[in-house]
Amino acid sequence: MKADALKSLIKSNKDKLNIEIDTDKKTISEKSLCPTQVDDMHNPKCLMRECANCSTKLMRKYLNTVKEESQTEDLQISWYKWESRHVERDDGSKKSIKSCVPKSTNFCVFADDLEKDMLGYPSHKFRAQWQQKRMIECLKTLSKEEIMIIIDFNENYTCSFQNEI
Ligand SMILES: [Zn+2]
Repeated sequence: MKADALKSLIKSNKDKLNIEIDTDKKTISEKSLCPTQVDDMHNPKCLMRECANCSTKLMRKYLNTVKEESQTEDLQISWYKWESRHVERDDGSKKSIKSCVPKSTNFCVFADDLEKDMLGYPSHKFRAQWQQKRMIECLKTLSKEEIMIIIDFNENYTCSFQNEI
C-alpha cells in the first residue's frame, strides 16, 4: 500500500519532480541491503539486519531524494495504514479489530513508517520465497498416494475473521 502511495505521489508531482525513481516494494527493499551474491541471494546477515554495511538508512536515503527533488518543505502524502482499534460488541465486551485507515501526513512521517516496515520485510520475503521453492520441489516428487496440505498463518499467529477488515 505504501509503495502505491509513493507511486501516486510521484505521478501527481511529475512536473516538480525531476527524477525517475522506482517505488516498487522489491526495489525499496533492495535499497536497504548489500548487493546480492551467489544465485541472486542476499547474505543472511543483511536479511537479518546484522550487517554493518547496510540498513534501512540506505533505503531512507533513496526515499529522501523524492523529498529533496520536490523542493517542498512540507511535502504531503496520502497513504493507508493497518491499525488496531477497540470496538464494543453488542454484549458490551470489547474487542480489538484491524482496519485500513487513510492517512495524509508529511512525507517524513510516511518514510519513518515505511522504514519500520522494511526492518523485517527482507527476511520475511526470503522465507516466503524459500518455502515456495521447496514446496514446488516437494510437489514434483509427490506419489499418487500422497497429498500436500498448505497451512499458512499470518505473522501474528492469530485468526482474523473476514468482517474484521
Ligand atoms: Zn549488508
